[in-house]
Amino acid sequence: MTESHERLLGQISRQSLMEFTEEISKEVRLSGSEEELRAFRYAEQQLKSFGFETNLYHRKALISLPMESKLQINGVSYTSITHSMAPSTPEIGVSGEIVYMENGFPLERDPDLADKVLLTDGLATPGALLQAQTHMPKAVIFINAEYTHEMIVSTVWGNPAFDQLGQYPKIPAVSITFADGEILKAKLSLEEKLLAEIMTQVDTAWRDIPTLIADYKGSEDVNPYVLFSGHIDSWHHGAMDNGSANATMLEVARIIGTNKTKLHRSLRLAFWSGHSHGRYAGSALYADEHWEDLYDNCVLHLNIDSVGGKNSSVLSEANAMAETKDIVAEPILKYADQEFNSTRYGKAGDQSFWGMGVPSLLMGLSEQVKSDNPASQAFSKLFGDGKAGGFGWWWHTTEDTIDKLDPVLLERDCRIYLATVLEICTNPLLPIKQQNAIKEIIGFIRNYQRSLPEPEWLGIALNRLEKLDTTVKRLTDLVHAADFPSAHSIRTYNHWNKQLSRILVRLNYVGGNRFSHDTATPKMPIPLLAEISQLEQHEPSPAYYSLLTTIRRNINEVNFNLREALELSEQTLKNWEEIQNG
Ligand SMILES: [Zn+2]
Repeated sequence: MTESHERLLGQISRQSLMEFTEEISKEVRLSGSEEELRAFRYAEQQLKSFGFETNLYHRKALISLPMESKLQINGVSYTSITHSMAPSTPEIGVSGEIVYMENGFPLERDPDLADKVLLTDGLATPGALLQAQTHMPKAVIFINAEYTHEMIVSTVWGNPAFDQLGQYPKIPAVSITFADGEILKAKLSLEEKLLAEIMTQVDTAWRDIPTLIADYKGSEDVNPYVLFSGHIDSWHHGAMDNGSANATMLEVARIIGTNKTKLHRSLRLAFWSGHSHGRYAGSALYADEHWEDLYDNCVLHLNIDSVGGKNSSVLSEANAMAETKDIVAEPILKYADQEFNSTRYGKAGDQSFWGMGVPSLLMGLSEQVKSDNPASQAFSKLFGDGKAGGFGWWWHTTEDTIDKLDPVLLERDCRIYLATVLEICTNPLLPIKQQNAIKEIIGFIRNYQRSLPEPEWLGIALNRLEKLDTTVKRLTDLVHAADFPSAHSIRTYNHWNKQLSRILVRLNYVGGNRFSHDTATPKMPIPLLAEISQLEQHEPSPAYYSLLTTIRRNINEVNFNLREALELSEQTLKNWEEIQNG
């Protein structure tokens, strides 16, 4: 951290962070609404005043807003909500006998569950609803926590392509509180028959949603840019999710802009809509419209969500990639006194740029300590079983209001984000550690190899990866040992670094076609090889041999990607040696 960066970090103001948050979160920001547009306009006007070049525009997106939910059980009304992208019931509603699914939904279709109303624990996730759908029930009731939590229940990423129209949920879904869930479970345990009548209305339609882009040009390398993004749309007032995050983006912009800070590469802020009600429609649209620009110029995607919450004391488990995690490890150690372990990304949260191979850093940053309250339990089901207990019981509820923020912790989180932005925008050498990605991929491939009947199928991939590891080490050592590398040799190194991400990020994280978007469902590392993990479930059979055929073809794709990565790296090493010697 240079002295001038320390000076900039010293300018972070709690007061301005809280003012930005208050202004953004004073209204409920449903995607495509007037209220949301006012928040976008406010952000734009602030960014302009800090010297950023802005562009606020609209595009069509499939947006789904839960409107009404009525639930009666044996004639008694219970408070409930329905969910984004769930179907509406017919006007007269649907009804069925409640069956409590204590251990989730069975994988194989159970005809006894058809036409029932299934009751289950946890948040309304797309995976759970999809699993329930197998049994063709009338509806599903999710038992949440102290409050009901708003959710989106489809897996289609962004706007649906033509062949995805049939992939939306077909079963109505509602959520109730933990306390009401306990009442129902008690009745069922006494073998009382419960008849549920459910009426829901979800307004799903193509609407105009805004996107706000704000640019601050780097002075030396204008074209490459760091994308720093967060969504503005919200559930309820969303003071933490995502008002405080938007405020952090504005504060980072204020300090960089008003100080006329010299950046090596450009900084592009992006504010999305359609995150909560369109499954990341805003960022997916941006990827669709700017595919080649992102491929050519975007060196890193830094994302921000739900920062500065009260008691948000766990900063060790935020999302990062192996090659990006060290960038934020230093500021987290310095300003939060924690060792950063990082968590591998799942396919969620505006991570719309892996198809073009853009590496990612962060999403959330600071989380709650895990506890055994119902909200914390429900979150760990959603976010995986880490040390952290999610973003707080108020996340995605009516209670996400400004009093849930801690100005001191918000300032801490802003400090970490600003330090991170300064490092990636001012370090002449792009600080993405490709060797960490290579080592991670080697580990994954060795794991897959153990499940292959013919392990040598992955021999070429491992051989190329080991060569790549050696080449990249030599190149990186050479570059970091150089006293005064020329602008040309720095550009050569940075170009190589970016191009290698184009191959490795995609290999590590993307399953399908790089020009579309994988669905928001859990993915194995190196998704092209995911079928290998299904082999154990099959005795030699027609399905088994077909799986082997898929695997064989996908291994060819992995090998070919690694060949390109190796050729690129060997050529760059040669160029660097020539530049250095010549
Ligand atoms: Zn959020």
